[in-house]
Amino acid sequence: MESSLLIYNTLSRQKELFRPVIPGRVGMYVCGPTVYGDAHLGHARPAITFDLLFRYLQHLGYKVRYVRNITDVGHLEHDADEGEDKIAKKARLEQLEPMEVAQHYANRFHDAMRALGCLPPSIEPHATGHIIEQIELVREILANGYAYESQGSVYFDVEKYNQKYRYGRLSGRNLTDVINNSRELDGQSEKRNQVDFALWKAAQPQHIMRWPSPWGAGFPGWHCECTAMGRKYLGSHFDIHGGGLDLVFPHHECEIAQAVASQGSDIVNYWMHCNMVTIGGQKMGKSLGNFITLDQFFSGTHEKLAQAYAPMTIRFFILQAHYRSTVDFSNEALQAAERGLQRLQAAIADLRRLSPSAESDAQTHQVVSSLRQRCYDAMNDDLASPLVISHLFDAASVVNRVADHKGSISAADLEELSAVMHLFAEDILGLLPASAATVAGGMQAASAAREEAFGHVVDMLLEQRAAAKAARDWATSDHIRDSLTALGFEIKDTKDGATWTLNK
Ligand SMILES: [Zn+2]
Repeated sequence: MESSLLIYNTLSRQKELFRPVIPGRVGMYVCGPTVYGDAHLGHARPAITFDLLFRYLQHLGYKVRYVRNITDVGHLEHDADEGEDKIAKKARLEQLEPMEVAQHYANRFHDAMRALGCLPPSIEPHATGHIIEQIELVREILANGYAYESQGSVYFDVEKYNQKYRYGRLSGRNLTDVINNSRELDGQSEKRNQVDFALWKAAQPQHIMRWPSPWGAGFPGWHCECTAMGRKYLGSHFDIHGGGLDLVFPHHECEIAQAVASQGSDIVNYWMHCNMVTIGGQKMGKSLGNFITLDQFFSGTHEKLAQAYAPMTIRFFILQAHYRSTVDFSNEALQAAERGLQRLQAAIADLRRLSPSAESDAQTHQVVSSLRQRCYDAMNDDLASPLVISHLFDAASVVNRVADHKGSISAADLEELSAVMHLFAEDILGLLPASAATVAGGMQAASAAREEAFGHVVDMLLEQRAAAKAARDWATSDHIRDSLTALGFEIKDTKDGATWTLNK
């Protein structure tokens, strides 16, 4: 398979031709959520970015194994080695088992991802299900001399590692910068150097998430899980590792160090990072407390939201920006995305209504004949989704012109136009048609409003049936009941009038 896909590698800081380790196959690991709260817009971005990549690689014919983890232990507050475990803290505050917290938010994360049209990953490993693999990783690093035990915890020896390998390659930092920027924290005395990071942490007596290990009861450091699970499911050399830009340092830098210290070589070929979602220019995040959850977007229940936004509007909004640019939230931007998506979806729906002519007019033929290649070129240039969208808008203009009888299209061009629009808008960008999105999104606000309107229509028909019955017009009354029954409505006559339920 000859690929012309270029992807920007954070490690080399340039676009590189994508060549998989094993021809025809792709192994891709993406850092998933820490499940202690609802997913917000900042989480939607990596999910949608790597869903786009997953869809496109599969479209190109690769057999893709997409691994996205669930962090359910070891991620401490402030992303540092100190403080309480984020899940354990939530469990303590809400008087729940930590696994109840993790399951609850993992379920809600899955619902939100489904609504956004993100395909499920091939494997979704949990950190707590891979303690043995993480302990094994720590043992290897210790055996190679790049870690040390201290009071029941194990720390990575960054300085020693840096003597042989370079720490900071991914983030472009050198060790002196890192040392100068690291804060003095409690428990620092356990470490030889303040830049060292925890591979295994001894559990304090009150700590409920704990496992036995060669170093005593404890829990793994946050960075271990991705190295251990990536290697378990994708092998010791795999293709792509992705995540948000905020994970470059320290998380991914530490992952690289762990992999190299344990096996002597890099584990990942292409590091890909999507940029942040900002709100008023500031990163949207849980730690900053300025986030809007996806559910709040879908229902419009947040003071900063002027209205509810359908999941596909959110997806379109994210894809309208290149994944390496920032996206700034505003109601105006989302409303513009909503109108844009509606225009595109209306054009796709109108394709079926176009009647072909003997020939296409010159402008139509020009757009249609180059459309497919232009869309591929954009995708192959580091997933330039905004360009794909602009090409699809060119296509939508053709549909509108032909529909308005201001242009003509041949049968062959219509077939090509339709195929390319469906392929790129739906299969690759994952913009589900409005009806399918409603099903995928469950009872979202927009569909709830629509359901309510449909319900009123049924009520109106039943009122007309009651009026027909009162007038002894049995033919009309029966016709209304039979028609509704055929559509799946169950009509029951009670002494207070007729009621209905939908048996679908
Ligand atoms: Zn990770």
